[in-house]
Amino acid sequence: MIQVLYDIETAAEITQKQLIAGSTNLNAPQSQREDYITLEEIFLHGGLLTWVTKTAEQRKNQQRNEPTDQPTDQANNLTQGPTDQIIRNHFNPTLQFNLHHINQFDRPGKLAWLITNHRQDRKGPSHCTAYLILFTNIDQPCVLKEERIQNSTYGISYYNTLATIWKRCVDNKDTNAIIINSLDSSVKALENLANRSNIVIRLRELIVNTKTQIIPTDQKKISAILEKIRQQTSRPADLKLIKYCWPQVVLRRLCNIRTAAINVQVQQRLTGQLTKTMKALCLHADCWAKIPLDQLSDQTIVMLTGLVNDKTRVLVRGELRPNQDTYPGCECKRQDGNTTTSTLVHRLTGCTKIQPEPRLLPAAHTSLIVARDILTGRNKSISKTKLLKFLTSLVI
Ligand SMILES: [Zn+2]
Repeated sequence: MIQVLYDIETAAEITQKQLIAGSTNLNAPQSQREDYITLEEIFLHGGLLTWVTKTAEQRKNQQRNEPTDQPTDQANNLTQGPTDQIIRNHFNPTLQFNLHHINQFDRPGKLAWLITNHRQDRKGPSHCTAYLILFTNIDQPCVLKEERIQNSTYGISYYNTLATIWKRCVDNKDTNAIIINSLDSSVKALENLANRSNIVIRLRELIVNTKTQIIPTDQKKISAILEKIRQQTSRPADLKLIKYCWPQVVLRRLCNIRTAAINVQVQQRLTGQLTKTMKALCLHADCWAKIPLDQLSDQTIVMLTGLVNDKTRVLVRGELRPNQDTYPGCECKRQDGNTTTSTLVHRLTGCTKIQPEPRLLPAAHTSLIVARDILTGRNKSISKTKLLKFLTSLVI
């Protein structure tokens, strides 16, 4: 139970996640790569020193024999992007990156590309498409061209947008102005000069070198432009989807999939470690995670394990046995049709011998719903610790 409350991951789970994160750094400098290989050896071989203390020469040989991690593109119909052979961790400080304001384009005849992202719900969140609209006149927009672009290796909105901006930088014969949501994660990454991502550094420098103008704009303004476009033009039913190979992030996609799978395993393990009483109150382990234990009394922790005080203040089992129909402590009879076996839940919902605290849980019969909403964070009227203190300090 303590493991659940502290949201503790096992050593194996932590190592697996570190291994997954490390696998994205296979192109990293030698020192970082050595750390990753050592960790992998510890994990695979149980930390046997004979494996960990391999000579540097043996490690080099092992690396030579490893398959290349550069993704290869087998499809024929992809628009080829640049390859990422050169890994950069620092940007060129002489290339000054600036964002532009939309007011500079607010005059007739000015052309701009507008980038938006759309999620294809049927295929899940990792399948988005970036939509590009070339238009003129912000006040009365007139559409000149449209495109749909998707990153061929990882079709989430972040990489779709990066791919789209790169493509527009390379091919800027129509205009060099790009309007984009100011809250888009790609804009945030480009703005952040401390970002060490090789992808972001290269894109930012390309933007400067090609004199591309990035114009972050709030969603309200973008929605207004889209609405005017929708009213004035009939949109083509099917736009050809262009798949763009830059950035190549096959490993990142695999890592995210594997990390998500491990997180599911962790949640399943933690849910299995919940006590019956905790499950009766809220089944999801993450609701119990990170409740500050120092703010819970000994009595609360004991009652969450499934024990309750009876009338004589003796700790007894708080779960009803199959043939038992009297809740310990208050001696209430279980009503016909009531499936609650937890005394704590009974005290919360149907006990006639206690009065629920009206300030906290106003309606006795909806108390369990309210309590679950508080534990899941949907209801923030009181803290989880205050609720648990109330639940476990009820005196008959
Ligand atoms: Zn009762």
